Amino acid sequence: MGSLDMSVLSSFGGIIRENQSLAPFTWLQIGGSTRYLVEPNDEQQLIATVQCCAAATIPMRVLGGGSNLLLRESGFDGATFSLTSPAFGQMRRVDNAIVCGAGAKLSHLIAFSVGAGLGGLEHLIGIPGTVGGALRCNAGTDDGDIGHVVHSAKLLTKDGKVVEVRGAELAFSHRVSSLDELVILEATFYLEPGEIRGLTKREQTFWIVKRSKQPSFPERAAIAFVDPDGYKASELLQQSGFNGAIEGAVRLSSSYPNYLFTSDGATSTQVLTLLERVRNGVQDRTGVQLQLHLQIW
Ligand SMILES: Cc1cc2nc3c(=O)[nH]c(=O)nc-3n(C[C@H](O)[C@H](O)[C@H](O)COP(=O)(O)OP(=O)(O)OC[C@H]3O[C@@H](n4cnc5c(N)ncnc54)[C@H](O)[C@@H]3O)c2cc1C
Repeated sequence: MGSLDMSVLSSFGGIIRENQSLAPFTWLQIGGSTRYLVEPNDEQQLIATVQCCAAATIPMRVLGGGSNLLLRESGFDGATFSLTSPAFGQMRRVDNAIVCGAGAKLSHLIAFSVGAGLGGLEHLIGIPGTVGGALRCNAGTDDGDIGHVVHSAKLLTKDGKVVEVRGAELAFSHRVSSLDELVILEATFYLEPGEIRGLTKREQTFWIVKRSKQPSFPERAAIAFVDPDGYKASELLQQSGFNGAIEGAVRLSSSYPNYLFTSDGATSTQVLTLLERVRNGVQDRTGVQLQLHLQIW
């Protein structure tokens, strides 16, 4: 792996920072640093910096809202791109569709669609993070996932080329998406026209349901496992006696066992040790193999 030379660093002054801790960018607030943190102001700068990293064979990753990420203490010896600039969070209505930048918060997209009288995203209320993260993880609830309403997506490849995917090129299954190019830039959602008052009511009802299914104060939290086909991960954890399980400064919730919490002194090693112990225990006791919901960096 190479390095970015001084001329690149100075020409992108301010948007590329070296050796930055990523822990504050994640909900679990643990883990190491990235060699370069890149925060482009717009798509043009994003493309130019991706091309510089590609030319220097620097590995690249994209950070969303950090609500589904576990960072190892060893950090990431590469470039982490963050799309927090407003340029990446623009939304516009086109007939019955909404075109939304991947850097927008998912909650903002839902509010925008309800306000525009377009339904189909309300059930996703309460899921933290960005539209890009939701698309990559195919975020959803028992009432459906985000992939159901995606019509097309604009992506940036690791060589810095912009491509559009639609139709059969899009595949979404339970918490899995085919949108696996380096960066999801934007997506178009096909939605159903509806009355704003009715959509607002639906959104409020879904929010009440969502809150009843998760801890009241989910700071420094993450969802541990994906629900396996035909099961609820939380029920399997409860049946196997892992609710409230602890490893160092990491614990599973007692009341909502599929939620993991970290506190001061927690490490990614403790998280991984706990998840492995729990996964093996659930398999021994129920025969079901749990898959991680958290993405490990
Ligand atoms: C309290 C709480 C409740 C939750 N409830 C739910 C729920 O009901 N349903 C559910 O499905 N999930 C839930 N989650 C998990 C999490 O919120 C979702 O997976 C969310 O969609 C992740 O989005 P993010 O922006 O935080 O992504 P991040 O955690 O930042 O990243 C996740 C992955 O997406 C990739 N990524 C992010 N943005 C982009 C982009 N623009 N281009 C390419 N790749 C990108 C990252 O590289 C990473 O691999 C919950 C989490 C918490 C803490």
